[in-house]
Amino acid sequence: MATKSSKKHILIIGAGLSGCLMAINFAKAGHNVQVIEARPDMRKNGFSGGRSINMALSHRGIRALARVGVSDLILQSAVAMKGRRMHAINGETHFMPYSEKPSEYINSISRAKLNEQLMQLADSYDNVEFIFNERCVKADLEKGTVATFSLERGTEELRYFQGDHLIGADGANSALRGTFRWALPTFTEDKQRENYGYKELTIYPDEVGVFKMDKNALHIWARGAFMMIALPNEDATFTCTVFLPLADAPYSLEALDEEEKVNSFFETYFPDAKALLPDLYEQWSKNPIGTLGTVRCAPYTYKDKAVLLGDAAHAMVPFYGQGMNAAFEDCWYLMEYLEQYDNDWSKALEAYEASQKPNGDAIAQLALENFLEMRDSVANQVFIKKRQVELALERNFSDYYSKYALVTFHPDISYKEAHRRGNLQDEFLMAYCAENLDVSLEAIDLKGLYASIKKIV
Ligand code: FAD
Repeated sequence: MATKSSKKHILIIGAGLSGCLMAINFAKAGHNVQVIEARPDMRKNGFSGGRSINMALSHRGIRALARVGVSDLILQSAVAMKGRRMHAINGETHFMPYSEKPSEYINSISRAKLNEQLMQLADSYDNVEFIFNERCVKADLEKGTVATFSLERGTEELRYFQGDHLIGADGANSALRGTFRWALPTFTEDKQRENYGYKELTIYPDEVGVFKMDKNALHIWARGAFMMIALPNEDATFTCTVFLPLADAPYSLEALDEEEKVNSFFETYFPDAKALLPDLYEQWSKNPIGTLGTVRCAPYTYKDKAVLLGDAAHAMVPFYGQGMNAAFEDCWYLMEYLEQYDNDWSKALEAYEASQKPNGDAIAQLALENFLEMRDSVANQVFIKKRQVELALERNFSDYYSKYALVTFHPDISYKEAHRRGNLQDEFLMAYCAENLDVSLEAIDLKGLYASIKKIV
């Protein structure tokens, strides 16, 4: 709790997922908080913050929500996904659990509902004020001032806000990050756009309101150069996301521009899903194309004055389902360090920089690597064998965790360490399974395998 002298005025830029969670954290710690959001209040005007309808919430995100006592409430409206259900081209499906441990699964959650809930919770504190329809355009990091404009007033008339500390929670195109360039000559920023984009489609419930596919799974149609996934929603719908090259490929979002082409593409590659999407082309032609990319920058902090978190610091491709989880983990670390250093912002931001920059880089890299795994490997025999061996290792040795488990279910292990250890394990096991593809699971010397893996990690 902030004492009279440590009580600060905090300006948070962005009332998205991490901005609202930060507001709750600072409010609980006794600070005064203003949250400046470019968009209108989503509780009155509906959600317009991007296209991703639902997201996978896992242990890192849950730990950060638990820190402010809201994880149980949030999880009430989640649908548990216990594993991947792979859809082959002939319509056969195959379930691969995420883990052998009952508590290790991921949760499909509505992004809009989650954002609204967090906003509402933050707004219930007297020491939090939300200011909507104000877009941050510039900031003076040293003085702690932020200038905003609104569509109503136009850019001629700026409004100014002042805080002791600035929190950049304003997403992948962060305006606050932009101001780091001016304040720090050594600041580096790298934006990498993928030639991949996505389109979302909805599978509606059947006539009696029941899910049309297995509810407790993340469904994957892995097809090499492209793929589709589907996550369940509370209302018995599934949100499908089709990932395709944007252009310059036989099947791309640009090339699939006519009803006949779209229908034939789905009939060939996703026939079972096509049967569940009677209004496929109507949705396809109406829904926008989303783009994908990675943002890396350094540093994430400016003296004891300003800090970037979430997508503002490390936007990533969505293939590990960790962007929001990583954003929430940033909030967790920032509060932990402030507590650890007794509200000494200088020391806390130094510690945040030292841990979260390498972690941000690691999870962004893991997300890129997982794209290849999801597109190609999950349908490949060696990979399937590797998953079976890993599950057997998890069953037999309580301290063996797969790479997926390290990243998704073990917040006590950093993303950086999960990346290092996970890749060493994966490399070793893929080579082992390629050599022993025909050896039955029962015939594998699990003890010896476990000992070899322990040695290399
Ligand atoms: P955001 O949620 O983007 O919030 C930024 C806020 O800042 C917005 O409200 C915006 O309006 C506001 N803002 C922007 N600029 C300004 C400005 N200049 N002034 C004032 N306000 C401003 N993550 C997961 O963990 N699991 C998943 O399964 C998952 N799936 C995904 C699927 C897709 C297709 C995509 C694209 C992303 C997915 N993510 C997932 C990633 C996740 O959506 C992001 O990482 C997360 O939303 C980041 O939260 P944030 O608070 O940093 O930014």
